Amino acid sequence: MRHCCKFKPDEIYYLKETNLYVDRKLSIGFCPICEKPVAELVEISFTGEVKRVRVSGLKANDLLFMLKNQVLYSMRECNYLKFKSKPYGWRYGVNKSSKIKGKEYVRQYAKDFYGNKELIKVF
Ligand SMILES: [Zn+2]
Repeated sequence: MRHCCKFKPDEIYYLKETNLYVDRKLSIGFCPICEKPVAELVEISFTGEVKRVRVSGLKANDLLFMLKNQVLYSMRECNYLKFKSKPYGWRYGVNKSSKIKGKEYVRQYAKDFYGNKELIKVF
C-alpha cells in the first residue's frame, strides 16, 4: 500500500461481496514516514473495473468501522490459527470522559491491534 512511500500492510481483511463488487479487500497499516494509519479498500465491479479507496488518519478509522461488519476473515486470523501468538483486532477510537473539579473532560484514545492505547486529544 502507499502513503508517503510504499509499505506492507499490517493486516488485510477479506470482505463480503456486494451486489456491485466482488474480490473486496481492505488493507490497513501505518505509514512508516508520517505514522498515520492508512486504509485501502480495493474492490472489483462486475464490469471488471477496479475501484480503489485510500484514506488516512481519522478517515481510515471511519472506514474500518463502516466495513467492520462485512469482514469475512483476515490475513492475521489465518496466521493466528497457524501460530496462535499475537492478538489481533481493529484500531479504533475510544472516548472516555472524566470530571475534574466539576468540569468534564473527554479523552480520545486510539487503540491498536495489540491492546495498546494512545491518547490522541483531550477536549
Ligand atoms: Zn504518510
